[in-house]
Amino acid sequence: MRLVFPLACALLAAVLSNALADDLPELGDVSRTTITAQQERQLGEQIMRQIRVAPQYLDDPEVTDYINALGYRLVANAPNVEQQFEFFVVDDKSVNAFALPGGFIGVHTGLITTAQSESELAAVLAHEIGHVSQRHIARFFTQQKQAGMASLAALALAILAARSSPDLASAAIAGSQYATYQTAINFTRDNEREADRVGLQILDKSGYDPRAMPGFLERLQRSYRLYETSAPSYARTHPLTFERIADVEGRVQAMPYRQVPDSLEFLLVRARLQARDMSPRDGVAYFDDILVEKKAVTEAPGRYGLVMELLRVKDYARATREMNLLLRQTPDAAMVVSLAGRVKTAAGDVRGAQDFYANAVKRFPRNRAITYDYARLLLDTKRPKEALQLISSALDISRTDHRLYELQAESFAALGQKLQQHRSLAEAYSLLGSLPAAIDQLQIGLKAGDGDFYQLSSAEARLKELRALDAERRKDQRQQ
Ligand SMILES: [Zn+2]
Repeated sequence: MRLVFPLACALLAAVLSNALADDLPELGDVSRTTITAQQERQLGEQIMRQIRVAPQYLDDPEVTDYINALGYRLVANAPNVEQQFEFFVVDDKSVNAFALPGGFIGVHTGLITTAQSESELAAVLAHEIGHVSQRHIARFFTQQKQAGMASLAALALAILAARSSPDLASAAIAGSQYATYQTAINFTRDNEREADRVGLQILDKSGYDPRAMPGFLERLQRSYRLYETSAPSYARTHPLTFERIADVEGRVQAMPYRQVPDSLEFLLVRARLQARDMSPRDGVAYFDDILVEKKAVTEAPGRYGLVMELLRVKDYARATREMNLLLRQTPDAAMVVSLAGRVKTAAGDVRGAQDFYANAVKRFPRNRAITYDYARLLLDTKRPKEALQLISSALDISRTDHRLYELQAESFAALGQKLQQHRSLAEAYSLLGSLPAAIDQLQIGLKAGDGDFYQLSSAEARLKELRALDAERRKDQRQQ
């Protein structure tokens, strides 16, 4: 639980200071009875802005992209889904997942590392998607409107904190807030059954093994009984009653038996997170043991984890040998190719790494990790023009990736192009939801005194656009 504490603390501190700030959208007055989808999304975005800067937010494009791909596959089979979803990973060893307002679903790394199959992980995600698709969260916030809207975001974060650590929450949420939180818990209990039912349908329709759900719940309950004090958070925040498990088991009986092999991506992501959790030396021993068993299913993820640990202990010679074996075994896995680039770079083979990445970005143009790493290598080896070309083609694929703009800003800075540097930073801030910071950057850039006629007029037009957008946003917040 120690690991959970800082996140909860950071979040609550952020809420308390933010609750007083005037940029907090007021989400309506007492007379309104429902929270609109747009308001719910806004509330979620606001919470996410705090979460994205918290140290426990796992900023790992490969893990994030995997969990989103899995999440979207499930969402595609969810009933009456009209909203956007975004999945994110929280670096926390406890076993948990949670849904925030606005379709944001958080997954703890502990859930991924302890899942015995991809279907188990999918089962927990499907349950959370069930909460969203049944509008449990929206309904809850609608109920809370009587409690006064200014505290809604604070409450959402308090609940999030409570999900990670009930003790902290009960201590931190004072008076009426605590009463509200209690209501939230009871309300959640009432919704568990429905989320299970919808979650099972989603799981089944998406081609995963529905039996993974009761299996996983039972395992959680067993560990809950054994280790009452360090119980997995999921068991605390999603009450595991005998009835609940029996109910899920009953429903599963009627479904066809299905054996679903885990995807290679799931196995690699799990190995990646396991490798991070261990000390590098323990990790080398752990993955070495797995490889000794010579099981076909564990060989590629085992070797992937081993190479990660070998990089951490700086044994580049062995990392290179193991990587060559892994590439021969799974030549088409983007995560393996991406790690191979890192091995070459770390081993000091700059020339080889550049050729390797040049080919890799052609094969996997949409892979963020490969693009970022290649751009980093080009910048570190003083080739900002080539970095700019790479980033420009990556932006053609995704215009909403703030990291690409940050790398672009760095490239312009290396070339001494100040206007363009600040222009790129402005785009990054705007994507992160901070319009005032974006406007600042454009103003700084325009004062820098460089840039040709076209760059200047384009930056001026963009400044006008962002100012109008910012004014509109402020007006909206006052009106709601
Ligand atoms: Zn639940």
